[in-house]
Order: sequence, then C-alpha cells, then structure tokens
Amino acid sequence: MIRIKNYINGEFVEPSQGEYLPNYNPSTGQVYSELPNSCEMDVAQAVVAARKALPKWSKLNAEKRSAMLYRIADELEKRIEDFAIAESRDQGKPVHLARDVEVPRAIWNFRFFAGAILHQRDLSTEGASGSLNYVLRQPVGVAGLISPWNLPLYLLSWKIAPAIATGNTCVAKPSEVTPMTAFLLGEVLTAAGVPPGVVNIVHGVGAKAGATLVEHPAVPLISFTGGTSTGEIIQKQAAPFFKKLSLELGGKNPNIIFNDADMKKCLPTTLRSSFQNQGEICLCGSRIFVQEDIYDSFVESFVAETEKIKVGDPQDSENFMGPLVSEPHMQKVLGCIEQAKKDGGKVLTGGERVKMSGELENGYFVRPTVIVDLDRCSEINQEEIFGPVVTVLPFKYMHEVADWANTVRYGLSASVWTSNLNRAHKMAKKLEAGTVWVNTWLDRDLRVPFGGQKASGMGREGGEDSLDFYTEKKTVCIGGL
Ligand code: NAD
Repeated sequence: MIRIKNYINGEFVEPSQGEYLPNYNPSTGQVYSELPNSCEMDVAQAVVAARKALPKWSKLNAEKRSAMLYRIADELEKRIEDFAIAESRDQGKPVHLARDVEVPRAIWNFRFFAGAILHQRDLSTEGASGSLNYVLRQPVGVAGLISPWNLPLYLLSWKIAPAIATGNTCVAKPSEVTPMTAFLLGEVLTAAGVPPGVVNIVHGVGAKAGATLVEHPAVPLISFTGGTSTGEIIQKQAAPFFKKLSLELGGKNPNIIFNDADMKKCLPTTLRSSFQNQGEICLCGSRIFVQEDIYDSFVESFVAETEKIKVGDPQDSENFMGPLVSEPHMQKVLGCIEQAKKDGGKVLTGGERVKMSGELENGYFVRPTVIVDLDRCSEINQEEIFGPVVTVLPFKYMHEVADWANTVRYGLSASVWTSNLNRAHKMAKKLEAGTVWVNTWLDRDLRVPFGGQKASGMGREGGEDSLDFYTEKKTVCIGGL
C-alpha cells in the first residue's frame, strides 16, 4: 500500500493528525494507496513555508526562475512513463492519453511559462506634464492553487508553473480523488532543485484542507478549477478577504454541425469530443446539434462509430476508454441516463455499466452513450454530466441553434462545424462561450486566453492573462522636470 504524504518545505511529511483517506483504483474498485486527510495545521504549516521562501524566490531575476522551470520540465520529462502509468491507474484515463498528451502538456506548461517571463514587456508613457509613467509588475504572494480530478497533473502544472514563474510561492491542494501524480511531482521538484517552500502540496478533502486554504488570510490569491457549485462556495469564502480569484468551472458545451461540414473530419473529432477521457473533460461537447437534413445520416454513422469504441483496462493501449473516476461519479452518470429516459430520451447505444471480468470486475466502466429525442430544456440537456453521455438534437436555422446553444447557465466552450466562413464568424460572435472552435476541438495554444463565461467561471488564464493574474501591476509616476 502506497502512503502518499504532503510535500511541505521541500520535504515529504505526514499529516499532523496522522489521518489518512483511502485512494481507489477505479479500474478495480480497490483501495491501492492512502492520502493525508490534512487539517488546518497542515495548511498553516505549508503557508508558513511558502511565506518564508517568498522574499528570496521573488527577488530572483527572471532568468534564474526561468532556468528552474526548465529544470522541472526536464526532470518531469525523464519520468513520463512513471507519470503516465500512475495517472492512468489513479484516474482511469487510458495510459496512451496520459503518455502522449497530458504529461507532455504538463511539461509544456513549465517550458511555456519559463519562456514567457523572459519575453514580457510592460508599458511606459510620458505624461502631458513631462512625467514618466511605468508599470512595475510584482508577485502577489503565496498563491493557493486548487485543482480537480479529471486532468490531475496537467491542471496542477497549469497553475504551479505561472504562479512560481512570476515570483510567487504556492500551496497547492490537488483533488483527493486523484492525488498520485501530485505526490510524484514533489520528487521531481526536489530533483530539479526547487528551493524548499517555493512549492508546497497539501492533500485532503475540499471542505477541510481546501476551505482552509481559501480562507487563509496570508494567501492573497486563489486559482480554482473544479465544479460550478464549489466555485460558488469559494467565491463566497474568498469575498471578505478581497482575494485575487480565478474560477475555471463546469460546462455544458454545444457542438454544432451544419449540413456543409466536412464529415471526414467532423465525425472522428466529434467522437473524441464526446468520449475522450470518458467524457471527463470540461471542454467535451455534450450537446450535439445537427442540421435537420443531415441529422438521420449523422446519427446513424455516429452511433455506429460509438459502438466500435473499446472500453476496458486503461493500462492497455488498445482501449479508448477506461473506467469513470469513482463509484459516486459512476452512480451520478448512470442516474443522469435514467433521468434522461424518464424525461422521454431514447438511448440509441450504451446507457449502462460495463461488467468486466477478473481483476476489473468491480471497475467503474460505463458504455459510451448516445441519447436522442430529449427536450433541449430538460435537466440532462441543461446540467453538466461529465461522463461518456451525449445527446443529439436536430435544428433548422442558424439563429435558432445559436439561441438554443446559449440557453444554458454555462458558457465554457463551443464547437462549430461548417465550410461557410461567414457562418463561422457569425456563430463565433453569437455563442456565449470562453472558447469557440471552428472545424476543430481541444486545439489549445497556451498563448490565448482560457476561461468561461456565465456559470463556467470568472477571469481568464493562459499566456498574458496568467502573467497578469499572478502579478500585481503597479503604476509608478515620476514627475517631470
Ligand atoms: P470539485 O469542485 O468537486 O473539486 C475540485 C477541487 O476543489 C478539489 O481539489 C476539491 O477537493 C476542492 N474543493 C471542494 N470543495 C472545496 C471547498 N469548499 N473549498 C475549497 N476547495 C474545495 O470538482 P471535481 O469534481 O474535482 O472536478 C470536476 C469539475 O471540474 C467539473 O465540473 C468540470 O467541468 C470542472 N473542470 C473545469 C475546468 C475548466 O477549465 N473550466 C477544467 C477541469 C474541470
């Protein structure tokens, strides 16, 4: 049994009350490790370490901080295979997805921000009176970084990299559901020579360790990725402290397919945007709107392709889908399918748990599911499921589909499939979403802003937006002679 520890002040430490939580392998339903159930004292200890490290780290010049981030990336790269296997076992994602996409993207997060801080320029102006104005950019302090279970290492590094690149120190609280790669990251940080206290990682449940971090008066910035209802709580918790706050929350993303879409590209990409990582990606498109005249043929091909998807052991590279992340999450997803049926939805394929044999007998596998005939205002077409379940809906006109796509409380991302450039531009303008993809999906460039509208979040991160979020800009005005 692996015992995960907190990483505080450059050392692996036991939780102060000695309490641990079970960590499940979702493929087998068995507990395979345990993680600290950290309390207020552990968070306080981590914040003290981060505060102690802050003066020296924040005064290092950008070249030195950049070099450290490159070293972290190099150390992580040496261990891609370890991380991919660990992530797959802990989260349920196929090992090839972790190895070929997510761990490399985590490495790229460190390299990207290592480079970004070397190329940053700020404004200076000469005022009307001959005064000189310039902008001083300074770290905010100890950053509190809270991440979810679906892309554990990728989203953790998406926060740690820009936070420390810009001279902050941090306390990270990874998801209690998938703590393993955050634990391993501590080894990488030590191997890279990151000074003690610059990055601290405290494990535990959200309502205890997470809430303590959000409410800690010495943590002036919180970057949170997770569910919308948790975001709501965090926003309230942080409000009295006037913290800098970034919230990256849930989505109910539309995938809009016009009759002139290039089906050779659209069909396989839509399959991925529906079921990659078991549909457990905030950017997955879960409502597929298809123009009336191609609706029947699309549904037929889409269902046929969905039925070819291999679900099974995520450590076997042949499989496209592994298990859902946890038993409660599997039950939630199955409950949503039942609700869709009650509301008049017709399940064309999937809709049930997959019973494996042998070691995987108790794994949380769910067949990819396609539902039609469900009212667009029904609960299942309005609320995030976060699993391998999509609905397909017909539409006739561009203006109606834009309205329907927008009639949800979320606004994270959207995909539009069309060969008509004018239509693509019009749709991009109309859709209420932080990111609109046209004829593609999950095509991410770290230089562009990332975030959500409405209940999908507050603020933007990525590129300049991350550099802005993790720093305070101060205007200095020197009077003219
Ligand atoms: P969650 O909100 O349950 O948990 C996320 C993190 O917050 C965990 O580390 C958890 O321990 C912590 N937490 C929970 N309650 C807390 C509290 N009161 N105070 C402080 N921390 C608290 O989310 P999840 O189930 O882990 O992740 C799935 C959700 O994340 C989905 O809704 C998904 O759409 C969203 N997500 C969004 C993005 C994005 O970029 N917008 C990316 C990935 C996932």
